[in-house]
Amino acid sequence: MHADILFRGGTIVDGTGAARYRGDVAVTDDRIVAVGALPDWVAGREVACADRIVAPGFIDPHVHHDEVVLTDPDMDCMLSQGVTTIINGNCGFSIAPLSASGALPQPLGMIVDDTAPRFASYAAYRDRLRQAPPAVNTACLIGHSTLRINEMDDLGRPADKVETLAMARSLDRALSEGGIGLSTGAFYPPARASTTEELIEMARVARSHGKLYVTHMRDEGDRVIEALEETFQIGREACCGVHVSHHKCAGLANHGLSHTTLSMIDKARHSLDVGLDTTPWTASSTMLNSGRHRQATRVIVADSTAHPEMAGRDLADIAAEWGTDLDEAVERLLPATGIFFIMDEQDVQRIMAYDRTIICSDGIARGEHPHPRVWGTFPRVLGHYVREVGLLSLEEAIRRMTSMPADRFGLEGRGRIEAGAFADIVVFDADRIKEAATYDTPIRPSEGIETVFVNGRESWCAFKNKGARAGHIL
Ligand SMILES: [Zn+2]
Repeated sequence: MHADILFRGGTIVDGTGAARYRGDVAVTDDRIVAVGALPDWVAGREVACADRIVAPGFIDPHVHHDEVVLTDPDMDCMLSQGVTTIINGNCGFSIAPLSASGALPQPLGMIVDDTAPRFASYAAYRDRLRQAPPAVNTACLIGHSTLRINEMDDLGRPADKVETLAMARSLDRALSEGGIGLSTGAFYPPARASTTEELIEMARVARSHGKLYVTHMRDEGDRVIEALEETFQIGREACCGVHVSHHKCAGLANHGLSHTTLSMIDKARHSLDVGLDTTPWTASSTMLNSGRHRQATRVIVADSTAHPEMAGRDLADIAAEWGTDLDEAVERLLPATGIFFIMDEQDVQRIMAYDRTIICSDGIARGEHPHPRVWGTFPRVLGHYVREVGLLSLEEAIRRMTSMPADRFGLEGRGRIEAGAFADIVVFDADRIKEAATYDTPIRPSEGIETVFVNGRESWCAFKNKGARAGHIL
């Protein structure tokens, strides 16, 4: 039997959660064609995998690389941590369909450059990616806030009937053109005034396509309980599966609240399809004027258009230097993004260990000083939380990075090492895998990731991008 490539003698962790086993993986074109003991097989190329884990390429279901896949298609930040598939368009903000011109409201402006080309339809964006594919497979949610920006002259009020209908039609079209679900972000100003009813109307459209309602909830701090209740209500009234993005309990006063939120999710699951994802860090990252600096024990400025020289510095130090309070310093730095230390390690671990939780980076690859999650999320889970803390088994952690997100978001043929699946494969050293990115030096490829294949093409090897750009648009 003949294959293009044989991954020889590795320890296969197949993505389903099943126990690891020794075996070979044969790949021809973009597919896995055989798995197991394959001594009689020959191939044009053999990849020696002794003492290495061979796993499905990781799937990051929550990133903000909508524009990065166009402007920096080599996607080093993703490949270098073993990620082969990403989902964009999260938190209510997608790059398409976007008809508004000129300056974009935040946080859409963090994701899409004011002067970048606009994609008035999702099909136009999808086709552009097909013409010039990035290095990783890409799927996209359609953002409710983006639809609001298109259809409403004043974002500070609920949508009226005509506007709601226009948004619903636009969403319907984008989902017909390949958008994989709906995202909302009522936490952020462009959608803060939206009513629960408006969100239910959007979720009904997602439901009619068999897609999920994916939400950065209205509140993740003092009112996280109410926000969860609203999310469940939306799911029930629209008969739509709901997915809570980057679940967290933000702010000192809310530390420990994950006991309550997870038991609420447990209860809701009896009558509703509920899922969630989370990041393995105690700091979050978003626009600097999100109000989070008042809940945080420490804030690092990630990026500032007004004062680019302040990137990487502590907000408290900047305020002291300027002789201002924190609020005034925030105002002076805008537009800006920040890194906010607002979570409790015990909540992070409790949420990560919960049986429905998928791993995500929530990465925004902007500027010189992003959150280290952009480069280090998946190796941090496998190194720190699996090997050092023992929070999850290796098999279970990989399941939450592969088959679980693939099944949740309907990414067929992804997330498993099995015959017939797409050949998205990561080979790594389980004893050495570790994030190298830190809050001080956030742009660094992780350790222990040896080689990464996307659709059967070698895309990353020994800390180097191979320039394959073999991603599909899903
Ligand atoms: Zn978000």
